[in-house]
Amino acid sequence: MKLKLAVSLFVIFCLNQSQAKEIAITFDDSPRHATGYFDGKTRALKLIEQLKQHDVPQVAFFSVSSRLDKEGIERLKLYANAGHVIANHTHNHPNFNQLTLAQYQENFLLADEKLSTFKNYKKWFRFPYLREGDTQEKRDGMRKTLADNGYLNAYITLNNYDWHIESLFQNTIKQGIAIDMQRMSQFYVEQLIDSINYYDELAIKHLGYSPKHVLLLHEMDISALFIGDLVTELRKQGWKIIPVEDAYTDKITDYQTTRIFKFNPGRVGEIARDKGQKKNLWHHSLDEKYLEQKFNQQVLMQ
Ligand SMILES: [Zn+2]
Repeated sequence: MKLKLAVSLFVIFCLNQSQAKEIAITFDDSPRHATGYFDGKTRALKLIEQLKQHDVPQVAFFSVSSRLDKEGIERLKLYANAGHVIANHTHNHPNFNQLTLAQYQENFLLADEKLSTFKNYKKWFRFPYLREGDTQEKRDGMRKTLADNGYLNAYITLNNYDWHIESLFQNTIKQGIAIDMQRMSQFYVEQLIDSINYYDELAIKHLGYSPKHVLLLHEMDISALFIGDLVTELRKQGWKIIPVEDAYTDKITDYQTTRIFKFNPGRVGEIARDKGQKKNLWHHSLDEKYLEQKFNQQVLMQ
């Protein structure tokens, strides 16, 4: 009887192991302008502390080199010294749809020069706004530039509008309105989990498995405040947090769409589109009006 129980428990354990969904965490736009709740250094220290306290392994900071003033450099050093990755997000965050290939390449290379001096720098490139080139010449040109320079296209699979949630939060505080932080946290976590589960289901539908996911977040005050709550909820729902390095070993890392996207939905969205899906490549929470309405209801109780 005891043996039977032990065998059953072992089987359940193995099933859980094989079914653990995996997710890595990345923060774009660092050192992002600090506008209100925290100053830049406090934000960085709080974010590092939260990641450590919640046993989050290596995350990545996709950085913009034009923001490297004294304080910006200090922030990136804090992240690097905490064991996290610093990577390339261009010099000044241009929209590829508005630049020529040559201008874009120059912007990318300037960032490479300035950022590669940081400890824990990796040749990973995150396209601003996820825009990878709206013509074949631009798309293929940047693919070649990345390859020639030994870079990985550091795609994301899990898209959301966390930057708009930050705006709603900061604007409310600026108006002198008190925010219930518990309700704020619940709202943030719920919106993110909704979109995460949506993209995971989309991936399973089109790939037949749950890939190692890459979550897109931004280096902002709400990230520093609530990342621990998000991680706790993810684990409760059966997710395992993995190093970003590990996420980029999935089969989909080598996937290259043949399609030209003017607006790129992220890697799972691309795969879905290539498999014939035309609608809902963006989750419904990627909508400023929707988020504002939910924020008013759930956080401000209006
Ligand atoms: Zn960005």
